[in-house]
Amino acid sequence: MRELVIISGKGGTGKTSLTASLAVLAGRVVMADCDVDAADLHLLFPPRNGDKQPFYSGHEAVIRPADCIGCGLCLTYCRFDAVRMVGSASGPTLFSIDPAACEGCGLCVHFCPTGAIDFPERLRGEWMIANTRIGPMVHARLDVAAENSGKLVSLVRKQAREFAEKEGYGLIITDGPPGIGCPVIASLTGASQVLVVTEPTVSGEHDLGRVLGLARHFDLPAAVCVNKWDLNPEMTERIESKARLSGAQIVGHIRYDPGVTRAMMQAKSVVETDAPAAEDIRRIWQMLR
Ligand code: SF4
Ligand code: SF4
Repeated sequence: MRELVIISGKGGTGKTSLTASLAVLAGRVVMADCDVDAADLHLLFPPRNGDKQPFYSGHEAVIRPADCIGCGLCLTYCRFDAVRMVGSASGPTLFSIDPAACEGCGLCVHFCPTGAIDFPERLRGEWMIANTRIGPMVHARLDVAAENSGKLVSLVRKQAREFAEKEGYGLIITDGPPGIGCPVIASLTGASQVLVVTEPTVSGEHDLGRVLGLARHFDLPAAVCVNKWDLNPEMTERIESKARLSGAQIVGHIRYDPGVTRAMMQAKSVVETDAPAAEDIRRIWQMLR
């Protein structure tokens, strides 16, 4: 099973657009959208018949008012200011927990003298395997402000692998998260190849160095492509020679082309249109195969 993961040092470099085109060119492929904080592959390939599954991560404390005796121990122990005093002046002092502030450490649960605090798993989002017009896609949505996107990325990749194995697919193309944080690490472990998309800017050069360092750490064959290369040919050359020096393969570059945005607005991948950049992307796919 081969898994090509497409990443970039930051968002907005054309990563998803390129992923979509490569998936179309690949033909029989399972897509995995691991940009779970800003998933948008589904905008180009609307999912059909997907079965939504809950994604749980961590726990949250919930006080049962009927069993709370108002001792205030939970308020004392909580380091995250998640416990709130509630109740009227005439009635007993009761406590409740702000779910947004609770970090799920479990300390209050442990010390509550009456066992009045439940500690259920916390629902953080959802994932699904769906059909799209070009093939199966595993994608996910993380709730706003929910953490643990690395765990969700791992889940999406695991589901994609299991599905591909079961249905006899030989290739997974993964739209990875931007940056170099935990979600990116989760998207790289165990992959076959990484394609880094960057832009010809100083920050693009800087980000590329960090991302290639990560690929080296995981001993992954890395390929690089500069998007909108003709906006700054000198910088493109500099980036490509630096990438070569660090052992990455240059698989081509993509010209600046307003047709890329037009394709997105038509909910199509670039290679499904007559945008000139489609030619560049086809060449990149030939190099990656
Ligand atoms: S520790 Fe338990 S009993 Fe005491 S205030 Fe908190 S929830 Fe109520
Ligand atoms: S689980 Fe931890 S963070 Fe949440 S309310 Fe209890 S002590 Fe505070």
